[in-house]
Amino acid sequence: MSLLQEAQDMEQEIIGWRRYFHENPELGLELPKTAAKVQEELKKMGVRFRPCGQSGVLGYIGKEGGKSILLRGDMDALPLTEDTGLPYASQCPGKMHACGHDTHAAMLLGAAKLLKAHEEELQGLVILMFQPGEETLSGARSMIEDGCLENPKPDHAVAIHIAGEPYQTGQVKLSRGTIAASSDNYRIILHGKGGHGASPQNSINPIFAAAKIVEAFTDIGRYEVDPQQPTVVNTCSIHAGTTYNIIPNDCEIRGTVRTFNEEVRANLLSRIQETVEKICSLYRCTFEFYNDFSTPSNYSEETFSDELYAMLKRDLEGVEVLPLDSSRMMGSEDFAYVSQKISSCSLSLGASNPDIPHFPAHHPKVQFDEKAFAYGAATYAQAALSYLK
Ligand SMILES: [Zn+2]
Ligand SMILES: [Zn+2]
Repeated sequence: MSLLQEAQDMEQEIIGWRRYFHENPELGLELPKTAAKVQEELKKMGVRFRPCGQSGVLGYIGKEGGKSILLRGDMDALPLTEDTGLPYASQCPGKMHACGHDTHAAMLLGAAKLLKAHEEELQGLVILMFQPGEETLSGARSMIEDGCLENPKPDHAVAIHIAGEPYQTGQVKLSRGTIAASSDNYRIILHGKGGHGASPQNSINPIFAAAKIVEAFTDIGRYEVDPQQPTVVNTCSIHAGTTYNIIPNDCEIRGTVRTFNEEVRANLLSRIQETVEKICSLYRCTFEFYNDFSTPSNYSEETFSDELYAMLKRDLEGVEVLPLDSSRMMGSEDFAYVSQKISSCSLSLGASNPDIPHFPAHHPKVQFDEKAFAYGAATYAQAALSYLK
């Protein structure tokens, strides 16, 4: 029997786990119910595990001492209210699994059960990484700080993200190269001196400094970066003042920097800080600068991606493995923290079919085809089985 058939035999169980996670979405690094459910199911399967970081769980199947591979599934939801009308819709207004991380957690549990049944065949160790806080770009970091990539250090890591159109149920696509941008999200608070709008000579208006900063950031993104390096420097929020004739004390600017090259990234971050310092000094303001959350670029290492592609093409019966894809997106994915340390590959799992209305991820009406979950569990498990042959 193929691994896919084995996964399809336990499909109802995977769907059940997924519906539980879907009805009980939790945010960021605070996933007490989700982590407890994962631990409870691993315990039932007889899989050894330990809590890791805040709300993370690490499972271990196979034997230590040889090769090892890490399988990562994230499990956090988003702060929005669900509008699908599904019978298993979120029971928590203001929270929804709109990025499909509930399906990742359920599919990784499915893979755990498959791999436990094949444990004797594993010539090495599978590390299951159930991760919180992807949407806040904090979960992978918190698990790495708590040693998820040490003792033992995995040779390779694999992440799956569920995907809607154009990818159909039954298809899986491996990426190759740098595929998701780095993301740095800055917040700058400018401090001036408030006063009467009719008496500029007695005040320092931080809005004028903010205007120059926004303009300078745009120029840096446009004129200081190699045009061959896709880059975004974008101001997305600016707040100051209350009415017509009061000069405010403060002005807050928020925005994001995206690129694929770590050298370009370091240079941009240092240039935007320098710009704030110089403009503030010229316009007599003081400032606070925060990079509130960030992630490096996500990298599917070429040699491993080629190797995994060949293995899945050969071994993953019943699943359509699409050609390797080197296209990039300006969005970010915090599996990047793993991929910068361990040779990794990111996969997209098709989960659309013509009967399901199409909405993009992060939309309150987004839905994923439940038939796709067996394919996802089989793909996770086959990656480990084939690598640890
Ligand atoms: Zn997302
Ligand atoms: Zn996601």
